[in-house]
Amino acid sequence: MAALLAVWRAGAAYLPLDPDYPAERLAFLVEDSGASYVLDTVPDSLQRAEPVPHGAAAYVIYTSGSTGTPKGVVVGHDGLAARVTWMRQAYGLHPGDRVVQFASLSFDTHAEEIYPALAAGARVELLPDGGVTLPDHLAGVTVLDLPTAYWHALVDQIGEVPWPDTLRLVILGGEQVHEAAVARWREHFGDRVRLVNTYGPTETTIIATTAELDGSPGRPPIGVPVGGTRVLVLDEHGEPVPPGVPGELCVTGAGVAQGYLNRPALTAERFAPGPGGSRVYRTGDRVRWRNDGQLEFLGRDDDQVKVRGFRVELGEIEARLLTCPGVGQAAVAVRDGVLVGYVVGTPEGEDLARLLGATLPAYMVPSLWVRLDALPLNRNGKIDRAALPAPQAAPRERVAPRGDAEQLVADVFGEVLGIEEIGAFDDFFALGGHSLLATRVIARIRALVELDVPIRVLFAHSTVAGLAASIEEALIAELAELSDDEAEGLVRTPQGPQGPQGNGEAR
Ligand code: AMP
Repeated sequence: MAALLAVWRAGAAYLPLDPDYPAERLAFLVEDSGASYVLDTVPDSLQRAEPVPHGAAAYVIYTSGSTGTPKGVVVGHDGLAARVTWMRQAYGLHPGDRVVQFASLSFDTHAEEIYPALAAGARVELLPDGGVTLPDHLAGVTVLDLPTAYWHALVDQIGEVPWPDTLRLVILGGEQVHEAAVARWREHFGDRVRLVNTYGPTETTIIATTAELDGSPGRPPIGVPVGGTRVLVLDEHGEPVPPGVPGELCVTGAGVAQGYLNRPALTAERFAPGPGGSRVYRTGDRVRWRNDGQLEFLGRDDDQVKVRGFRVELGEIEARLLTCPGVGQAAVAVRDGVLVGYVVGTPEGEDLARLLGATLPAYMVPSLWVRLDALPLNRNGKIDRAALPAPQAAPRERVAPRGDAEQLVADVFGEVLGIEEIGAFDDFFALGGHSLLATRVIARIRALVELDVPIRVLFAHSTVAGLAASIEEALIAELAELSDDEAEGLVRTPQGPQGPQGNGEAR
């Protein structure tokens, strides 16, 4: 946090580098952005303290690029300052607030979590082991800013999440919010916790529109523009469409980014000149004005998708796949929220995943693979993604769970993943588990054996046998802390400590 502010104090802009990204990706980001320093420890030479010039860049955030390489979005201090001012006021941030910093610095949501809170004198809560551990760190939190996909997963288990009484505001963003999830949320919280849907591409500085989700029936809207920002809904000729008619959402005014770093042609294509020297960003998102004056998100026409909240150009993964030896043709699609790779060629999926993992962030590597004789094409000769077959689960060698603890974990994995037979050595993530489902595993274990397993334990021990051993260890440690009387009481209770619902054997 000090480094982010120090970079600005020195009159520079920052480019976040996620140490978990493959070295090749990091090297590309440093090279492509022309970064002057890599801040690992602060170098002595970064000591200029100049006032930030008007129009200076604040940060560069890379997003997936359809042609095979990511593109850096340059966001200016003026646009960011407009957003921070608006957010601080609209979210009612005050010194008593505790705002979780959930987003990785590689995504612009970090700026929504950090700067408005600091500007308001509020406290920013860091998650030392990353966003997946959020449920372990909710105590005392007042404001949460969550990817919609993650929030959907939390709402699925709303009764099992340790929501703090202090929570007053939840900000969502990144994907279409489900109407049913809002209904469930409101059933649980009523008006006590304010729920805000935010919409906006990285190119419009974090967000462009917001809607209060008050549980009104129908598809949750994306609302109206935030302060200083205007939006237009245009047809294919660039003319505004009447209310109710779908068109492309275009954003102008405060927050429109400076463009793509060193990509003048792409910048000119997406950032068009508007009236009076203004600039208009064409989002590629299809929307319509509703009768109540709010915008409704309808989807996209291109191959940009969201996978568990991450913005991904399928074309970037496909371009990478085509560089793998033995791959003749390649397509990537999203099925049930996971990336599926389709290849015409000889390599095994496992090998392709390893090759892609050396150049792409983990969230861009398909977890399921299908080998085809040819890709289905539509009449225009383009890949017909809708005609790509559903992946079949590969046959697995299965060792039956050994003992109550393994059986419990196998049952929970099976329930959460929707797979019938789970073996002792099956790995949660290899079977298609991901961070959103991980929170559900932890909640089910908490409900079944009243044990709080930190989520990081599942990440460290993701096989049935591994997690079962950790659970047994934790239960033994818990027993060791009981006094003799408590332990005796436990032994005498005929149905165990959890009553009739509890799984006494697993203890
Ligand atoms: P990113 O640049 O990663 O923030 O992704 C921006 C894209 O995510 C937008 O262009 C939309 O396609 C989608 N998006 C963001 N917020 C929402 C939302 N609240 N509802 C629907 N789609 C959204």
